[in-house]
Amino acid sequence: MNNKLAIRKCKEYELHEVFDIISEIYKKTDGPDVMGKLVLLKPNILTDDDPAKCISTHPVVVEAMVRFLQANGATVFVGDSPAVHTQKFRGEKSGIYKVCETTGATWVDFTLNPIEKKLNKGKIKIASIIDRVDLIISIPKFKNHELVYFTGAIKNTLGLVPGFSKGKQHALHQDRNGFGEFLVDLTELRTPDYFLMDGIMGMEGPGPGRGYPIEIGLLLGSTNPLAMDMIASRIAGYDPMVVPTNRTALFRKLWLQSEEDIEYDGPEISTILKNGFNKVPISTNNNIALQFVMKRIRFLRKFDRRPVFIHENCTGCQKCVNICPVKAIEPLPTKKTQIVLTDSKCIRCFCCSEVCTDNAVEIKRKVFGV
Ligand code: SF4
Ligand code: SF4
Repeated sequence: MNNKLAIRKCKEYELHEVFDIISEIYKKTDGPDVMGKLVLLKPNILTDDDPAKCISTHPVVVEAMVRFLQANGATVFVGDSPAVHTQKFRGEKSGIYKVCETTGATWVDFTLNPIEKKLNKGKIKIASIIDRVDLIISIPKFKNHELVYFTGAIKNTLGLVPGFSKGKQHALHQDRNGFGEFLVDLTELRTPDYFLMDGIMGMEGPGPGRGYPIEIGLLLGSTNPLAMDMIASRIAGYDPMVVPTNRTALFRKLWLQSEEDIEYDGPEISTILKNGFNKVPISTNNNIALQFVMKRIRFLRKFDRRPVFIHENCTGCQKCVNICPVKAIEPLPTKKTQIVLTDSKCIRCFCCSEVCTDNAVEIKRKVFGV
């Protein structure tokens, strides 16, 4: 791993243009030699949906990366596991399975025979393919995230954890700082060998599943997940140190000693800042000491952002009920489209909002309604 980060402007999902930019970025950042190697590509497929919604990595970026790797002598595998991983899931709506069909890359189901690995706190199930490939290349999407503010290279590793096992981690790490630490532990366990961020179109507002597509016009590449996330979150308008994964990784001096150590190649950052990007409101309890106090003063929970269920939009699919790691929600026995929250149980992980594809969960403050 090195500290190099390259960014290039790219306005469209046009295969040849994206391929050429990837070739240039990869070379500039000393991406690993892939000749004769087995390579796993890990896009972000949070939920399998239309690429125009910007919930997942765009299939053109995945295809360009597959073709680039194949042209350089690699055998390519592609896979991800959304939180709601239905049997035989294979990324059809997101267009990513189609990429496998057209390129000959092999789709991998992460839920088959996962292996157990040790983390700082306990054990975790993870896709067994990570031990069978030579290299992993992560392709995150430029998106907001209600819990960790910005989802990038470090957060994308979570998809290696199959299906519902992800939700259990929220029960073990019950606040955004704890969850950020877990994500850093997980990425440290098997740090992908290269990161390519799809920032051609990104997601602002209530990401990672319900936000709004926005043109960012960038592709970012690095072997260093922290270098990528520090700069990408800055481009979105965040102070990179409010993002818990950045803060934890930098504090531990894991992949960088400081932001100044990033060896950057690309347009002047001030010219590519996404001014006006609709960020996730920074929580009043982002501060660890304040959070400790707030947890103990029940009244202050009113000021937390929390899930609000929009009964008119609810289809009663129960995905939110099944994903909730602490069983804080349930449908009314008489009406399954009426989801009811037990606020005192809720740990504000926002998994319910991530999995709801019907706009039936909003994240709001009880007091101010935002
Ligand atoms: S709130 Fe959304 S996820 Fe939950 S049951 Fe209703 S439609 Fe399904
Ligand atoms: S209700 Fe939603 S935000 Fe609260 S704990 Fe359950 S999944 Fe997380």
